Amino acid sequence: MPRYGVLALQGDFIEHVQALRSLGVEAIEVRLPEQLQGLDGLIIPGGESTTIGKLAVAYNLVDPIRRMANEGIPIWGTCAGMILLAKDVGQIQPLIGVMDITVKRNAFGRQVDSFETDLLIPALDAVSTAEERGKPFRAIFIRAPYIQKVGPGVEELAHLADGTVVAARQGNLLATAFHPELADDTRFHRYFLKMRS
Ligand code: GLN
Repeated sequence: MPRYGVLALQGDFIEHVQALRSLGVEAIEVRLPEQLQGLDGLIIPGGESTTIGKLAVAYNLVDPIRRMANEGIPIWGTCAGMILLAKDVGQIQPLIGVMDITVKRNAFGRQVDSFETDLLIPALDAVSTAEERGKPFRAIFIRAPYIQKVGPGVEELAHLADGTVVAARQGNLLATAFHPELADDTRFHRYFLKMRS
């Protein structure tokens, strides 16, 4: 059975574990470097990116996760997880820093720092049932970041109505500014599971 890890230092890792299990794969909470051994993929959840980054440094997880990224193992960052994957967040904080995207934290301002919106995400059609195909994805943004700039080789997967990039993929790396693990829709998790070659 494929075995996936969810970084469980802080944030909403339990919802990702549950989503993965509901899709029939083994899912473990990762807190120690040795728990990364042999994983088919890793999810870095939402939460508070500075806290998760500091804990990842303290638990010696940064280098092994970077190695996994370089070895081509799928890694998906949601919200704070996306911030951690980015190479550039416009400020100094501990990062995994493997994905060629520039991310702006808390990018939607205070009064609208949490909202939900429907996004059309054509990439999800590859994992959709006939019924799901073309259906918008309900995206939940919680004090969310967005992607300001993508490097060459980064595919933009989802945009807000004004063109803001809120999901992207670079080979084995996936980033979403929103929280698919909180939606009652497992298409993004299925898309991630399919990234394993
Ligand atoms: N605002 C958080 C940060 O900058 C991210 C929020 C989230 O993960 N829901 O780390």
